[in-house]
Amino acid sequence: MILHMRKSILVLSLIFISLKTFSWGFYAHRLINFQAVFLLPPEMLAFFKPHIAYLREHAVDPDRRRYMVAGEGPRHFIDLDHYKTDSLPSGWKSALERFPEDSLQQHGILPWWLQTMQYRLTKAFREKEPDKILKLAADIGHYIGDGHVPLHACSNYDGQFTNQRGIHALWESALPELLAEDQWQLYTSRAAYWQQPALFFWQFIRESGKAVDTVLECERNLAATFPPDTRYSFMERNGKLQKQITPAFAMAYHEAMNELTERRLKQSIQAVASSWYTAWVDAGQPDLKVLLKDSLQPEVAEKVAQLNLLWLKEN
Ligand SMILES: [Zn+2]
Repeated sequence: MILHMRKSILVLSLIFISLKTFSWGFYAHRLINFQAVFLLPPEMLAFFKPHIAYLREHAVDPDRRRYMVAGEGPRHFIDLDHYKTDSLPSGWKSALERFPEDSLQQHGILPWWLQTMQYRLTKAFREKEPDKILKLAADIGHYIGDGHVPLHACSNYDGQFTNQRGIHALWESALPELLAEDQWQLYTSRAAYWQQPALFFWQFIRESGKAVDTVLECERNLAATFPPDTRYSFMERNGKLQKQITPAFAMAYHEAMNELTERRLKQSIQAVASSWYTAWVDAGQPDLKVLLKDSLQPEVAEKVAQLNLLWLKEN
């Protein structure tokens, strides 16, 4: 029994480590969904703001599912470098005509999965299903965030082919955790309407693919000038020594990449808000206020209507 328990604890802690390692860190995913809410038009804000804690907390559900749901893993990445062409089929059906499905799954299906999620979110808005809207909005926020991470767009996702293991967590967990709150400016433009969501999905994933060399090269060059003891420090947490990156190395890496991580985080936030907004518009702009459990007080509803007029005028 004890042995069994210890085994489960071991499995759990391994899962925890893997989760920490292979997604925008939990911190960044939560930040992205949270900040995206403030870029929405007032009519949407009236529904999304009261549920902001849900959207933040559930920003990491897709990563939690990776270890429980078969087929979840490939939805978080695509190995663009595996394909020797820049012209991959935009839609899933045409992708299936060109490549066997098991091969597509093996190399990641993120750009196609995003289109499915956008369709489902639009449908949930159209059907005015508040629980589904929130769940799908939180989920697509996660996948859009992943699509902005360069190391989610290549097969060398943790520097394993270039002797740079650990770079994944450095880029998407350590940098935002150390720098975002005090150093980064995440203010960005409001949600935009996408005529063709698939184009945007492919665009930011292609940008991620193009940034992979910068991510790897800058770390490699810096590591050569930072002796290991100035790159890492050890901190005791729960009676265990944990290796972590030093703020000096994090800052130097961030600057060497010309603030790429900060820019990608900011673009993720804007893209998530735009995806939610586009789904709502495509669903015919349903009145979300009626979906609130306690419907809005008349004076608050009036304020929302006024703010909305301003939003429309400024657009
Ligand atoms: Zn993920």
